[in-house]
Amino acid sequence: MTGAAWADGASATGATAPSVDIHRSPSDAAAPSIQRGTPAGDDVLHLPVVIVGAGACGLTAALMLNDEQIDCVALERDAVPSGSTALSSGFVPAAGTRVQMAAGIVESPGDFAADIRDKTHGTAAEPLLQAYTEAIAPALDVLQARHGLTFELLDGFLYPGHRVRRMHALPERTGSALMGALQRAADATGAYVLTHSRVCELWCDEDDRITGVGYARPDGTLERLRCDALILACNGFGGNAAMVRELLPEMADAAFGGHTGNDGSAIAWGQALGARLADMGGYQGHGSWAVPQGALVSWAIMMAGGIQINAGGVRFHDETQGYSEAAVHVLQQPGGIAWNVFDAPLLALGREFPDFCEAERAGAVRGCATIEALAAVIGCDVAVLEATIDRSDRRALTAPFYAIKVTGALFHTQGGLDIDPDCRVLRTDGTPFPNLLAGGGAARGVSGNAVWGYLSGNGLLSAIAGGFIAARTAAALVAQGASTGDIR
Ligand SMILES: Cc1cc2nc3c(=O)[nH]c(=O)nc-3n(C[C@H](O)[C@H](O)[C@H](O)COP(=O)(O)OP(=O)(O)OC[C@H]3O[C@@H](n4cnc5c(N)ncnc54)[C@H](O)[C@@H]3O)c2cc1C
Repeated sequence: MTGAAWADGASATGATAPSVDIHRSPSDAAAPSIQRGTPAGDDVLHLPVVIVGAGACGLTAALMLNDEQIDCVALERDAVPSGSTALSSGFVPAAGTRVQMAAGIVESPGDFAADIRDKTHGTAAEPLLQAYTEAIAPALDVLQARHGLTFELLDGFLYPGHRVRRMHALPERTGSALMGALQRAADATGAYVLTHSRVCELWCDEDDRITGVGYARPDGTLERLRCDALILACNGFGGNAAMVRELLPEMADAAFGGHTGNDGSAIAWGQALGARLADMGGYQGHGSWAVPQGALVSWAIMMAGGIQINAGGVRFHDETQGYSEAAVHVLQQPGGIAWNVFDAPLLALGREFPDFCEAERAGAVRGCATIEALAAVIGCDVAVLEATIDRSDRRALTAPFYAIKVTGALFHTQGGLDIDPDCRVLRTDGTPFPNLLAGGGAARGVSGNAVWGYLSGNGLLSAIAGGFIAARTAAALVAQGASTGDIR
């Protein structure tokens, strides 16, 4: 990374490490910083593992560590953990789960990896791709069998690039249900989540070993903990406008559909410590964000035959390629908008999705009895529109028509800290930090370095598989430390 405004600030206190300014006021006590040494003081508690962030990644890690009877805490900045996970549709792809097998679908993690590889044109980090696709089925099975998350396999259509049905969701089909279920599991098992705790300091010794963290409480006090391993599960930089402008210029003016906590903290810490970043151009966009409602309209409608038409009445891309790259195509149209056009059977399909119903309740769906009425809603020439619909190579749409005005949105970033297949954060020279781990949106994903590499579900794949693997690695580090007496 060169010349980045966000990469040459001055918030770290380390003598040798580069420092980072992620565009907060210098007086912001909660700005991420690196402290050298070990947090000292009688009131500073020690826990084997500390997790920063309690979204899907952090809670999965906490549950897995708790299962292994390893004390840990997930520190969460918000009063109620939500993160982007709660804003998501909650769809998680996995190959080889018990649920998928019960549905009669037999495939291996390798088949799933092949679909991701194809979508990224071979640019996804191969060892991580293998690790995530192998870990996700056991992770979902454990969450189901041990923690009561009742995953179902989505039916009726395939998301772009998935050759078989492998998308799992809870019966409610929402990310808020997924977060609710993870939190209930944490409560039930005693996995500790400390809310109102915004981590702002990482403590690091001269061997690059993370020794603890400092976190700001709502009353302004700063509390500290010592730890033997740290998992960064605080997602990426989609909510940091300056970083988005710098790194994803095509999304600079796009709506952001994710959580404000995606502020780039993990990247700032990583840079200050000398960590390597990877795939910083990768992200999940979405070409179907209803305006002005600001709501997700399921891409299932496009996959089943809906089309996107611009303000001139013209179709402008192949909708089946994927909703992520569609964000860029839509933003390139006049006014940065498009119309999702579909008919009655597709309306019925859309109504199977809670986020579609929410958009409909908010007034996003416009019914049009005739093509003339549809042209009037779009504001285009009837003859042009007629030709567009007649020449469409998709399923023939018949009146009555329905239209939703949409724009392209940024959902979350897929670039971040480079990690090995055990979720250990790597230094710029490729060697792992001794006890610093990352998963989910804090780390690089498996979508390569561009918007078109995002295969639907790569976000929660990284979060849940990443949390699962990071917990396993942290558990091994703790066990190793206990056997060598290297535990503080
Ligand atoms: C509208 C929408 C729909 C989506 N749908 C899907 C989908 O169906 N399937 C899919 O795979 N992906 C989907 N995604 C992407 C998916 O939501 C994310 O990839 C995933 O939730 C990331 O999980 P995470 O645990 O890494 O981050 P998050 O869920 O964002 O959790 C990070 C947590 O860290 C906390 N945090 C941040 N900084 C700090 C700090 N300094 N101290 C303490 N806590 C901190 C945050 O408050 C947050 O709770 C969607 C995204 C959006 C926006």
